[in-house]
Amino acid sequence: MTTSTTAPAENTEEIRTSDDGQDAGHVDVLIVGAGVSGIGAAHHLREQFPDRTFLILDAQDNRGGTWWTHRYPGVRSDSDLFTYGYRDKPWRGPSIAAGAEILAYLDEVIDEDALGPLIRFQHRVTAASWSTAERRWTVEVSREDTGERLLFTAGFLWMCQGYYNHAKPYRPQWEGMDRFQGVIVHPQRWPEDLDLAGKRVVVIGSGATAATLIPAIAGQAEHVTMLQRSPSYYFAPPADDELAVTLRSLDIPDEWTYEILRRKFIQLTDWLAKTSVEAPGDLHAFLVESVRPLLPEGFDVEKHLTPRYRPWQQRIAIVPDGDLFSALREGKASIVTDTIETFTEHGIKVSSGEEIPADIVVSATGFTMSVLGDIAFVVDGEPVDFTGRVTWRGIMISGIPNMAYVFGYFRHSWTLRVDLVSDLIGRLLTHMKEKGATMVVPALRPEDADMELRPWCDPENFSAGYVMRSQHILYKQGDREPWIHLLEHEEEREILPKADLDDGTLVYS
Ligand SMILES: Cc1cc2nc3c(=O)[nH]c(=O)nc-3n(C[C@H](O)[C@H](O)[C@H](O)COP(=O)(O)OP(=O)(O)OC[C@H]3O[C@@H](n4cnc5c(N)ncnc54)[C@H](O)[C@@H]3O)c2cc1C
Repeated sequence: MTTSTTAPAENTEEIRTSDDGQDAGHVDVLIVGAGVSGIGAAHHLREQFPDRTFLILDAQDNRGGTWWTHRYPGVRSDSDLFTYGYRDKPWRGPSIAAGAEILAYLDEVIDEDALGPLIRFQHRVTAASWSTAERRWTVEVSREDTGERLLFTAGFLWMCQGYYNHAKPYRPQWEGMDRFQGVIVHPQRWPEDLDLAGKRVVVIGSGATAATLIPAIAGQAEHVTMLQRSPSYYFAPPADDELAVTLRSLDIPDEWTYEILRRKFIQLTDWLAKTSVEAPGDLHAFLVESVRPLLPEGFDVEKHLTPRYRPWQQRIAIVPDGDLFSALREGKASIVTDTIETFTEHGIKVSSGEEIPADIVVSATGFTMSVLGDIAFVVDGEPVDFTGRVTWRGIMISGIPNMAYVFGYFRHSWTLRVDLVSDLIGRLLTHMKEKGATMVVPALRPEDADMELRPWCDPENFSAGYVMRSQHILYKQGDREPWIHLLEHEEEREILPKADLDDGTLVYS
């Protein structure tokens, strides 16, 4: 990633105080979230607008967002890092990376762009209020460490808060949990001192987290059981991508190697996404059959590894080098496909009547989704109810001025969208300047007035549990551009760079 040669702009104006909280100053752009999206957004601001002031606020005590929150054994990406890496910064590591490697990569970006002094940790944004008269947001922050209340003001709010509540993982309540004598943990809050040696572990869930965690702990625990209600799709590519190994052995610039690998993986995911719609039966058969040879003899593939949904309706879990299946072959791990009837003192009883003994239960049961960081938004004194609002290209929201958000792809790597959205926001900020506008707000045109409003996510397209549990609190999409959230990189990489910022859906003043 290249670094702007311009010195970091001065980031705060005058410090004022108010009765409601200490005034922490004004910036041109306030970024909420220091994860992959927030750091990516900051890089683009640095590159394109070296003279504008900005800050990044994050509730956590360190950078990385998801990769800081999730530090369970074996945590790793489930997409290739050639497309999960930023466009401008070659990834030099393995195709599938450990969480710590991703954090190290983000640290390099922070250093190269001199972002460190601009990140404020333990700053939880609780409320954001827009004033048209003042043309600015007033953002209320609660300091997680001191309890202080701070007020920042900003001309533009760039929400990079991710999609789930980092402090509250999702865990269903099961009968009998209170009588269980062992330990119950969630991967989102993994206790650093958890001793697995000689323990019988049950991991509830079958998604990427379970598939990652199980091989990582199988060697330490006495036995690990994956307890799933229904199977997920897995794909087991080699940990070292063959083309990456070849290209890296040649004397060519890293940037070329990176670009070629990005194109390869973008094309592969395009193909997977397309095939999941056009020939779902073929893709289903391909995925199921590709893992069959990796399983122990007599393994019931139909029961444990044959999902009931269309491939890609939920993320396909990547199992590099088939390490999950090695753990099954070696007898260190096993799979039970059944529903939980009750926890007992010493394990979990499932509907078949079997009791799975457990000293430790890991509930790899997913996220509690959060809408724009659970921040109370107010526009000109009116509290914002997101459920009545419509997304503008999955980037802005109707009726909310000078605010953009980043939501990545379900199928392609999240970060591909960070770069595309950042380009569009950059274009928008430049366009506003050229127009002499200090405010931009998405607004339905007269011809959009009776547009059908649809749920934020079509379950036919993507039906992960955390999305389905939260549709009722989310904003909507319409039935036409630009009021839809496309979610497919193949379309967006054509559409977003050409998006007309003067098509009447953005009102400038
Ligand atoms: C284990 C795991 C593996 C994954 N692997 C992949 C993968 O391989 N490929 C892929 O594409 N995606 C993957 N994902 C999805 C992943 O979440 C995204 O790729 C990406 O990390 C999201 O980055 P983000 O910066 O948008 O949000 P986050 O990583 O969620 O970071 C948001 C940050 O904003 C902060 N924040 C939120 N609300 C507030 C507030 N009100 N005030 C202040 N700060 C706030 C949070 O504290 C957090 O630090 C994975 C997810 C998990 C959990």
